[in-house]
Amino acid sequence: MSIQLSRLAFFGLCLCLAISCSEPPEQAAAPTPPPAEAPQKVMTVSMPTIDSTITIEDLMGKIDPKKHPAFMPIEARYASRKNMYLRKEAHAAFARMHAAAKADGINLKIISATRPFAHQKRIWEAKWNGQRKVDGQNLSKTIPDPAKRALKILEYSSMPGTSRHHWGTDIDLNSLENSYFSKGLGKKIYDWLSTNAAQYGFCQSYSPKGPERPNGYEEEKWHWTYLPIARRLTEQYKLRITNEQIGGFDGAESATSIRVIENYVLGINQSCL
Ligand SMILES: [Zn+2]
Repeated sequence: MSIQLSRLAFFGLCLCLAISCSEPPEQAAAPTPPPAEAPQKVMTVSMPTIDSTITIEDLMGKIDPKKHPAFMPIEARYASRKNMYLRKEAHAAFARMHAAAKADGINLKIISATRPFAHQKRIWEAKWNGQRKVDGQNLSKTIPDPAKRALKILEYSSMPGTSRHHWGTDIDLNSLENSYFSKGLGKKIYDWLSTNAAQYGFCQSYSPKGPERPNGYEEEKWHWTYLPIARRLTEQYKLRITNEQIGGFDGAESATSIRVIENYVLGINQSCL
């Protein structure tokens, strides 16, 4: 908190200096007539452009993190199990956050990280076809309409090709139940993350649904995204992927009608954009 306040103070000071340097105080300024021809202000707007270091496969999770040069295995002391991967920069940031949390008596544990397209396809199709129940239901029987069935699965699971877990920037921490984070140790962990995660570049992408986040997944207090990379990936996704490109799994035909990119990929906490 103190770092944030000092940053604010610093920016405030800069702003004051900038104003006082470029514009003398009002009382000292003599009234002057406007120049005969006022110079035209030129507005420059930076348009997003294609970042060639990021591929379509990176964006849609059609990668093998074991072989991808930007990824590394998560060190055992940070993870609940073996064979989880993150982008190296996200791993380094997490290591810093983990150490700071530990010093405050909080043990952060990664329980899920990178999930490639094929992994997400297995989760999605198991729910789509009823092998895995959703709220105790076999959705293939209880919700025959494809768009409605997709929306039910999308309460918590992404369509293959649209998950932030494809990117190597996003992690699930400690528990997959919101209730865990509402009391006791879980609440301590969540309160610590809410206060401190931003200092290490992490943001809760699925904040509570409401006027500020009307679309997308339900709240996930466990899901944190490493913004310095994920922000670039989100921008590239918006620029380069269309709903029509989402495919290769059962139920993919609903991607366009439910506008999965606009409502889910981009339906995140606005402070994580
Ligand atoms: Zn997650």
